[in-house]
Amino acid sequence: MNDLDPMEFDEDSWLLDQGLESLGDEHWMRHALKLAQQAAEQDEVPVGAIVVHNNKVIASAFNQREQLADPTAHAEMIAITQAASHLNSWRLLECTLFVTLEPCPMCAGAILQSRIPRVVYGAVDPKAGAVVSLFELLSDPRLNHRCETVGGVLANDCGRVLTEFFDRKRRLGKK
Ligand SMILES: [Zn+2]
Repeated sequence: MNDLDPMEFDEDSWLLDQGLESLGDEHWMRHALKLAQQAAEQDEVPVGAIVVHNNKVIASAFNQREQLADPTAHAEMIAITQAASHLNSWRLLECTLFVTLEPCPMCAGAILQSRIPRVVYGAVDPKAGAVVSLFELLSDPRLNHRCETVGGVLANDCGRVLTEFFDRKRRLGKK
């Protein structure tokens, strides 16, 4: 072991960390995906979100715009409110938000307000996304908070649940 190059060792452990981290993200995204599927079963646009704090899920929600007749009832908004109430603080420090679809401008605004340091999302939303698609609100240097973002985690699965939902809607609409 004495002839082990310490630099090489560091590099290996760094790579290992990266691998474990991405496995972790997929693990949590699967939770969010299950919530999205639950939304579809209840005839809501299937987007799911969870907030993880210290490796524990402290909030889980799906889009409930129809049921609550509330334009702000996106999965992220509900999850952020739940997480703040769980932590009894509006600052969601040391939390990661996982959401199956790239957040819209409203949700990106709430993410900034809550000071969440890390957001992981699945599919991109070319029509309303505010992380990379239409706006880059979470990394705008003019704002007082920025967060780390990771996109594309289980993107195909997250996107498929949405396209299947809208395909079914269209088929039913034609009958
Ligand atoms: Zn939103």
